[in-house]
Amino acid sequence: MTKPDPATDILAAVAAAYASRTDVSADDIVALVGKLRREFGSFDMIAPDDKPQARETTRISPAIPIEKAVTHDKVYCLCCGKGFKMLKRHLGAEHGLTEAAYRAMFDLPEDMPLVAPSYSDRKASYARRVGFGKYDRRETHSESSGVE
Ligand SMILES: [Zn+2]
Repeated sequence: MTKPDPATDILAAVAAAYASRTDVSADDIVALVGKLRREFGSFDMIAPDDKPQARETTRISPAIPIEKAVTHDKVYCLCCGKGFKMLKRHLGAEHGLTEAAYRAMFDLPEDMPLVAPSYSDRKASYARRVGFGKYDRRETHSESSGVE
């Protein structure tokens, strides 16, 4: 059985009551039920418990405000509120989400970082330190000239 529909219950009760009367024809009952169905068309609005409001909001509300999801050291997961240096791996491992799915889920802008800015900085400075940067290579070269 599906969950009880109050309108249908009332219709059934009314129809049954009428059917037990000898002075009412089958046509009268059919006409009455049709009329009642139209009357009870607004029944859904009378019984709001039947329609949970949560079902109408398709977007999932984030665990923390989106504007607070990115700090210098961490990017916070909007699904569970945990902070990470890199969110992508967590999304896949914990929530089975791709980066794109995550962005779509919370309607995130394209430029919203999923890697903590400090982590990006550190990678960049590490790259510079080991001489991958174009400008710093010259610096590294002059510093290490004695070693060569
Ligand atoms: Zn999470």
